[in-house]
Amino acid sequence: MDGNFNKNDLERVVSADKAHVWHHLTQHKPFETGEPRIIIEGKDMRVWDQNGKEYIDAVSGAVWTVNVGYGRKRIADAVHAQLMKVCYFANSGGSIPGALFAEKLIDKMPGMSRVYYTNSGSEANEKAFKMVRQIAHKKYGGKKTKILYRDRDYHGSTLAAMSAGGQDERNMQYGPFAPDFVRVPHCMEYRKHELGLEHLSGREFGIAAANQIEDVILREGPETVGSLCLEPVTAGGGVIEAPEGYWERVQEICKQYNVLLHIDEVVCGVGRTGTEWFGYQHYGIKPDFVTMAKGVASGYAAIACMVTTEEVFAHFKDNPDDKLNHFRDISTFGGCTAGPAAALENMAIIEEENLLENCTVMGERMMGNLQALMEKHEIIGDVRGKGLFLGAELVTNRETKEPADEKDVMAVVADCGAQGVIIGAANRSIPGRNNVLCFSPALIATAEDIDAITDAVDKALTKVFG
Ligand code: PLP
Repeated sequence: MDGNFNKNDLERVVSADKAHVWHHLTQHKPFETGEPRIIIEGKDMRVWDQNGKEYIDAVSGAVWTVNVGYGRKRIADAVHAQLMKVCYFANSGGSIPGALFAEKLIDKMPGMSRVYYTNSGSEANEKAFKMVRQIAHKKYGGKKTKILYRDRDYHGSTLAAMSAGGQDERNMQYGPFAPDFVRVPHCMEYRKHELGLEHLSGREFGIAAANQIEDVILREGPETVGSLCLEPVTAGGGVIEAPEGYWERVQEICKQYNVLLHIDEVVCGVGRTGTEWFGYQHYGIKPDFVTMAKGVASGYAAIACMVTTEEVFAHFKDNPDDKLNHFRDISTFGGCTAGPAAALENMAIIEEENLLENCTVMGERMMGNLQALMEKHEIIGDVRGKGLFLGAELVTNRETKEPADEKDVMAVVADCGAQGVIIGAANRSIPGRNNVLCFSPALIATAEDIDAITDAVDKALTKVFG
C-alpha cells in the first residue's frame, strides 16, 4: 500500500465519512460505534482498507463489477488521454471512443446492431422499457404496453426499474410502482416446490417453468404484452441458472405472442459467466434488447449500454409524416467519453489475456471446491452458478430447505472478512432472509486465489455452524 495518506489524513477521512456519507444498501448503526471499511487501494484481485488490512476481493468490488481487476494502467492511461482530448459532448452527436466501442461490442453480439449509451444499469433498462412503450403506441394503438418481469430478478433502483423488480426486500415501502409491469414466476429448480412443480425435473421442469410465463400472457391478454425482461442468470435473487429447456420454450412463447425479449446482462455481461461474452450466448437466445453495465468498463468509468436490433431501431427511423417519430430520450452522461474509452481497453484486456477461458477454468475449480464444502457442511443445501459467478445456498434443513438465519449468514461473511476475504450474500426475494453466499472474483483469478477464498469460507462455516 503506498503511503500518500498519513495516519492523520486517514482519521479525517474516516470521520468525514461517518459524518457525511450515506452509504448504499447499509444500516448505519454499526458505523456509529465502529468504522466503515474504506477501501483506499486495489491491485489485481486485492484491496487494502484504511488500516492497511489486505483482502482478496472475491466479489469484484462488492457488486460483480471489477472484471479485469484493479490497477490497470492501460485503462487509466486511455481514459486520461481521452479526457485531455475531449471529456464530453452530448450523445446527440458522436465521439471517437463511442463509435469504436459500439463497433467492437456489436462484433461480439451477432444479430444486434445499435448501442444506446447511458450511465447505469437501471437507466439502460428504463431505455428498453420506454422503447417498448413507444412501439406499443406507434404500432399497436397503445395496447402492447405491459412489461413482464420475473420473481427474484432485479433490474435496478429507479422507480420504473423497481416496478420490474422481483425482490420484495428491495421493493417494500417504495410503492406505488409504475402501472403495466406484471410479475411472472421464476424457474429455480432447487425451490421448484414453490412453483408447484416438484414432480418434474431437468428439461421437463424447464419447459413447465417457462409455460408458467405463457399462463400469465394468456391471463393478461397477449395483445397487451409488449416485452419480457429476464436476467440470463439471476444475480442478487440468489445466483440462479435456468434449467435445460427453459430458454428454448421462453423464445417460442415470445415468438408466438409477439413479445419482445429483453435480456438484462448488467451482471452477466462482458465475460462474467466464462467462454462467452454474454450470459445469453450460452443458451442460444436471440434477444431484442440487451442491457449491460457493471463489467463493461470494470468500474474504471461509469458506462452502461442498451443494445438492440435493426428491427427495433427501424421503428424509430425518420418519418416525414411524423416529426416526433424518433426516440425522444437523452442521458446526459451517456455523452461522457471516459466510459467507452475505458470499455475499449477493458475488452482488449479480456481478449489479450484470454480471460473468458480463465473464467471458465477457474469457475469450474471454484464450483468443485464449493461442492466439496457441501459434502463437509450440512448447512450448504445447494451450490450453483456459471463461470466466476457462483452461489452457495445455506439451509438449516436439506429436506425442508428452510433458509439459514440471515444473522448466521452475515456472521460467515464477517468471519471471511476478518480472515481477509471479501464475499457477499444475496437472495433478496424473502425480506431479511439473505441466505446465499455469493462469489464473483475478477476474471484474472488464479487457482491459489480460488483455493484461498474457499478455504476461508470453510473455516468461517466451521466457526459459525460447527
Ligand atoms: N440489473 C441487474 C441484474 C443488477 O444486478 C443491477 C445492479 O445490481 C442493475 C440492473 C442496476 O444497475 P445499476 O445499479 O447500475 O443501476
